[in-house]
Formats: sequence, structure tokens, C-alpha cells
Amino acid sequence: MTRRGDRYYMPGGSDQTLGSFLWRAERMSPDTEIVSRTPEGIERYEYEKYGERVARLGHALDGAGVGQGDRVGTFCWNHHRHFETYFGVPNVGAQLHTINPLLPNEHIAYIVENAADRVIFVDPSLAEKLAGAVAAEESAFDSVEQFVLMAPSVTEDLDGSGLDLVDYESFLADHESSYEWPALSGEQPAGMCYTSGTTGMPKGVEYTQSMLWAHTMATLTPQGLGIDDTDVVMPVVPMFHVNAWGMPFSATAAGAKQVFPGPSPDPADIAGLIENEGVTLTAGVPTVWFGLLEHMEDNDVDLSALERVVIGGSAAPPSLIRQFDERGVEVVHAWGMTEMSPIGSVAHLKAGMEGWDDEDRYDKRAKQGLMVPGLEFKVIDEDGAEVPWDGEEFGELWVRGPWVTTEYFERPEANAEEFVEAPGGTWLKTGDVVTVDPEGYIQIVDREKDVIKSGGEWISSVELENALMAHDDVAEATVIGIPHERWQERPVAFVVPGGSADEDTLATELLDMIADEYPKWWVPDDVEFIEEVPKTATGKFSKKDLREEYADESLVAGEAPEEAAPGDG
Ligand code: ADP
Repeated sequence: MTRRGDRYYMPGGSDQTLGSFLWRAERMSPDTEIVSRTPEGIERYEYEKYGERVARLGHALDGAGVGQGDRVGTFCWNHHRHFETYFGVPNVGAQLHTINPLLPNEHIAYIVENAADRVIFVDPSLAEKLAGAVAAEESAFDSVEQFVLMAPSVTEDLDGSGLDLVDYESFLADHESSYEWPALSGEQPAGMCYTSGTTGMPKGVEYTQSMLWAHTMATLTPQGLGIDDTDVVMPVVPMFHVNAWGMPFSATAAGAKQVFPGPSPDPADIAGLIENEGVTLTAGVPTVWFGLLEHMEDNDVDLSALERVVIGGSAAPPSLIRQFDERGVEVVHAWGMTEMSPIGSVAHLKAGMEGWDDEDRYDKRAKQGLMVPGLEFKVIDEDGAEVPWDGEEFGELWVRGPWVTTEYFERPEANAEEFVEAPGGTWLKTGDVVTVDPEGYIQIVDREKDVIKSGGEWISSVELENALMAHDDVAEATVIGIPHERWQERPVAFVVPGGSADEDTLATELLDMIADEYPKWWVPDDVEFIEEVPKTATGKFSKKDLREEYADESLVAGEAPEEAAPGDG
């Protein structure tokens, strides 16, 4: 099985390892392009060259003393050099630890110390941020022997960063472009990512070779993302967040052209890459796509190549799905978690549903969808019983399967809370509250901690947000429960206006709209207008920050509608 020297190997023999995907792309798609937006401009090369550079990276890691089982950190945006670490690090038997650079310094220091990274790859635009974390807690970085700058050279301004930097191209130079990769077991840890820790310190999730292999195979299926070699794949979801939802692996396995949008891409960058590179499949959190649509209001953007946008991380509002449909682009709504490598369910229509009427089809597509093949789930209510699949009753979603973790890294207290051992395999308690309809589609009602509990009843903040964001004059909206003496909590909406309506008129319209569609006690006590909804390090609405800033009981005091909330004693 060799084409040139010993570069084409069969890594891992018959085991489930990532190296087999690279092996295939090099052989079957040697001329297919990998395109990357970098500070130096657009760079492009083909899988053949990619394989050579990954081989050189493998030798360079050996040279840096990285051994099997060692962890290697990356502190980078989406670009070709980061992509080279995606195969280079796991292929030598080390573990790729992607670090979220948007986390506070304290969390960055904690996770580098916890993971004991030996080498850290860092982007020029993020070097200062990393240097700040090192300066704040130097001992946390004791394990790090080398910082590698993801650039052709170390510029003077970065020389003074305090990090002992070598540039990536020098790190690779002088190394051979073929590598006889070691045979690895599927059990070998290959990746690691920390949840962004909405409460407490982030928790580490380790991905073995076989977890990532199985996740890749499942996402390749039509019930997953259905990627093939006619696709041009551009993950806008950062590669520092759960491996960009596994897309760099699945696109490689498929031999698809890949496009990496580089540091902090804005809507114009994203639009330009879609147009110029013919992107057919892209992915990201809803905020990114609201930004693109807003950009398109004032700019001509040719979306004709684009076929599908995978939206996940938080709920894709039905209004967003419709707006893309109107432009001939299919939204594929997916749900997942860091603990699940990350994809769990995708909202495809089942056989026969294409003929359903519009509303019913949107209803399914806006749900979080059907579990992809390979996973199992159940939904457990407060009494520990499984809820019926009636689309009404809800409970906590439990999942298990080959790419679902069964523990957190060195966090026994969290393990005891969030995993349940059972004869057929360990369940992960997701913390997501869901319904399941008779066709098996799950729908997230809320995250357990975001559900609004009012007068003994539950109010879904997600549903209220979707309803508010469907209004033409609303750019973003989020709803949180504010403590209330009598009703326990009352909903308050925080709205970023996106039109010309004056605030009083808009607030009245929104409240009337909710009153028409939902029970009376769901109507928010107040609508607050804000400039921007605070975001987490993974681009989701940060209700924690919002609560800290606005958990002001005066917003709700005395406002709860009498006789409104049932269950009130
Ligand atoms: P963090 O929120 O800490 O960044 P994750 O990215 O692992 O960590 O977040 C997983 C959670 O994100 C899920 O448990 C769920 O609450 C939410 N989520 C992911 N996808 C969706 C979706 N399509 N709709 C609604 N919520 C989603």
C-alpha cells in the first residue's frame, strides 16, 4: 500500500483511528484544495502537500520531545496550520488539546495546568492574550516546554511577549515529508476539549481515537451531515470549540475541499469566502448567521453555491431557518455537546414528510431532531420515570454511545452527578430539558438551569426567545427568570432592537404577540432594551452575565399577573 516511499501506511492496522482518514485523502483526493484565510492573505494547497506538512509536523513533535500520551495545546483560530495539528498530533499518539482563547485568564491557566500541555501552538493575534494568562499564573504553565507561533516568522512586537516563541515554519523546516506513523489503539486518547463552564471551572473531556473515528463515520451519513467529495466545507464554528463540530475530520474522510475562515472572521469575510471558494456547506452558532443576513441587507452577496448551513450550539430560531430557505439555502439544525464529540441529533425530515404542509415541516426542522445512528437516548422526569413520546411531557435528556464520554477528566465530584452507570453502558445526563414527539424528534425546552419556574409551573425561555426573534424589529432577544417573592421567578425579556420602531411601541407589540400565542403567565413582566446580549466564550447568549447585571427584583416586583400562574398555593 505505498505510492511514494513509506508515506502511505495503514496506521493502526484494523483499529479505529483518525490516521486512516488522512491516508485516504492523500491517496484519493491528492489534488483537492485546502484554502485558508490568514493575516498574510489567502493560502491554498492540496491534500498531497497537506500530508507532507503533517508528516513534517509529526517529526517536529518528536524532536520537541512530545511522546505518546502527551498533550499538545492549540490557542488558534481556523486556518491550515491549525488543521495540520488536527492530524499531526493524534497521529504520533499524542493528544490535541484545543484551548478556547475567549475564556478568562483564570480558566485558561486552570486548563493548561490540568491538561499539563507540553507544547502550545498560538496565533499571532492571540499571543498577547496567552502571554497575559501566563503572566497572571506562571506556575500553571510549568509543563509547557515550547510555544510555537502559527506564522511564517516571529515579528518583533511578539518577540517581547514574554513567551519563548519559535515560528511554525521554522519548527517544521528541515524535517522529512514522510512519516511511518506508529500503529495506535482505538483506546488511545487523541483529543481533549473543556466545556466552557457556565458554573465553576471548565471540565475536561477526553476523546479517544475511536470516539473521534466513530463520530466522523456517523456525521458522514445522510442522517448526520451527509458530507461527500462534491462538498466545499467551511467550518465557521471555531476549531477551538469541540473540533469545529468534527468537520475537519469528516471533510478529510470524505476528501472534500476545505475552507478555513481565519482569525475573527466578520460577515464580509464569511460572505467573500462563500462566493470566491464556492462553499457548499458551512456551520456555526445562530449569531454568526444573523450577522451574515444583516450584512446581506446592504451588500450584494452571491449565495448560489451554498447548499446547507449547519446551525447548532443554541437553538436555531424558526425565523432564521425561513430566511435562509427564502435564499435557497437549507438550514440543518443540529444539537450536541462537548461531552458528545459533539454531534448528537440532526433535524432531517423523515421519509414521507416532504409532502407535509409548510408549517408541519418547519415544526420538525426547528426541533433539535433525530439522534444520529449509533446513539441511544431516553428522557427522564423528576420522579425518575421515562416520559412518553407525545411531544408534550418533558424531562432530562440522557444519552449514550460510542462518541459520548463516560467521565470528566480528573473531576470525580462531577462524574458522580452527571453520569449514571447502567448494564447497557453509561448514560450522560445532558442537563437539557426536552420533549420527544411520536416520530422521535427531540425538542429542547430549555437548559435545566435556564428554565423559568413561576408559580409551580415551567416557562421555556427558549420558546419565548424564538417568538420574540421572529418579530421583524428584533435583532436579538433573550429571556431570563428574575427572582420574585410570590411567584418564585418571573420572565423578563432583554431585546436588542433591529428596526426603526420606537421602544415603547415595540415593547407593547412584543407583549401582545406573546399574550396571543402563550398562556397568560408566560408573558414577560418587562421588556428591557439593551445594545447587545452578552455572549459566552462559545458565542451563546450568556444568561449568567445577564443575570449578574440585571437580576434586579424591581423589574418584576408586583407585576405578576394575578390569577396568572397555576399551581400557586
Ligand atoms: P458550552 O455551553 O459550555 O459551550 P457545549 O458547547 O458543550 O458547552 O454546549 C452544549 C449545550 O448547548 C447543550 O447541552 C445545549 O443546551 C446547547 N445546545 C447545543 N446545540 C443546541 C441546539 N441546536 N439547540 C438548543 N440548544 C443547543
